[in-house]
Amino acid sequence: MPKPIVAIVGRPNVGKSSLFNRIVGARIAIVEDMPGVTRDRLYQDAEWQGREFTLVDTGGLDFAEDVITAQIRKQAELAIKEADAILFLVDAREGLTSIDQEVAGVLRRTDKPVLLVANKVEQFDQSKISYFDFYQLGLGDPIPVSAAEGLNTGDLLDQLITLLPQPDEDPYPPDTIRIAVIGRPNVGKSSLVNAILGEERVIVSSIPGTTRDAIDTPFERGGKNYVIIDTAGMRRRKKIDLPTERYSVVRALRAVDRCDVTLMLIDATEGVAEQDKKIVGYAHEKGKAIILVANKWDLIEKDDKTMNKFERKFREELPFLSYSPILYISALTGQRLPKVLEMVDFVVEQASKRVPTADLNNLIREATQATPPPADKHRRLKIFYATQGGVKPPTFILFVNDPELMHFSYQRYLENQVRSTYGFEGTPVRFFLRRRE
Ligand code: GDP
Ligand code: GDP
Repeated sequence: MPKPIVAIVGRPNVGKSSLFNRIVGARIAIVEDMPGVTRDRLYQDAEWQGREFTLVDTGGLDFAEDVITAQIRKQAELAIKEADAILFLVDAREGLTSIDQEVAGVLRRTDKPVLLVANKVEQFDQSKISYFDFYQLGLGDPIPVSAAEGLNTGDLLDQLITLLPQPDEDPYPPDTIRIAVIGRPNVGKSSLVNAILGEERVIVSSIPGTTRDAIDTPFERGGKNYVIIDTAGMRRRKKIDLPTERYSVVRALRAVDRCDVTLMLIDATEGVAEQDKKIVGYAHEKGKAIILVANKWDLIEKDDKTMNKFERKFREELPFLSYSPILYISALTGQRLPKVLEMVDFVVEQASKRVPTADLNNLIREATQATPPPADKHRRLKIFYATQGGVKPPTFILFVNDPELMHFSYQRYLENQVRSTYGFEGTPVRFFLRRRE
């Protein structure tokens, strides 16, 4: 995956090369001592919060045009064509100019992300600066920075990296099992991650994930590769105060997107939260394997009925997850901790299982004979043929006389029949209906 390209666009003297040098600063400093390495490279690799990108200063490109407006119009067009994100730089000291307006006109026509950056704002006292004029450009809030002094450029970069395209592949070997650890603050995510990693061979120390929403830690166990995607890890790195940390749904959803298995942590002393339901609902729809992990089991007063009581409650609150195993653990005392990775392996195996076509068709035939599909307006669903179209999640294709005749409850019945024979514990399964020609 090539690095995303970020172009700096703007008329001469607004501070493009100053900003360019500011952003790639660390690297420039490294090469500066070497004779013959010029400071003014037009393309430089930069990195912020673990996201890498290539920065281009379009002002340094020579278009052999002598009219300035034509020059920077070309810059803008090139940026639109080549870049993944554009920093449009204006000069807050000089204020809005007609050239800025021209460039903005070009940039407004792209659907690439554009950040409007008002440079030379050394004083954040608003009475002294005129960057509010720049709202007229119709490119959103101007971000005040001082490239020369490095003021607010961190915030600019924070915003920039959220706009960069997500790398579509992660750097792990293809058979790697990716585990997302999800749950509201204080449920014990960090404790669980640390406990698991404490026991396993960590391959490299934690690296920021492909987004800055999570920390990925690859490790190896029994010859298999895993990655833990830890949404709490970011908090540790950035020292965000515990009480002020919100349950970031976005962060959780991104981790779910990248995982094979979602570990949904639930505080046994508190039960399932609303946000938990949303996130596992999303994981379910995305076809991810899901394990429910009731943590802080050490704090629960128990008798021989306690586990059943908890199980009933979880099933009631998360009825669509009837296939998910539930573990009762303590990240603190280590109770049943080894079960966690055993269960991860098990559900991945389940999600990857293939049912031979002949067996599947026998099963469907027997199921429809035992309980025929209900008739609807004198017409009855006929299933001619079934085949498994894919894994992770297991996906079945049913060739039928008319897909409209399939009822939700009958599909549920078929799913239950398939599950009672083949298990598929911990993974959603899908049915697709095709009209037979
Ligand atoms: P470019 O030609 O558009 O790339 O602009 P430069 O980066 O060469 O800067 C043009 C002038 O503006 C130079 O004299 C810089 O020192 C000055 N400049 C750049 N950034 C700032 C800033 O943040 N504050 C102030 N006060 N001056 C700046
Ligand atoms: P996170 O916000 O989800 O990462 O939660 P932490 O791992 O930081 O844990 C929050 C608090 O709960 C800490 O004080 C932990 O020591 C405590 N904790 C985590 N797991 C358990 C557990 O299994 N039992 C008990 N009693 N406390 C736990």
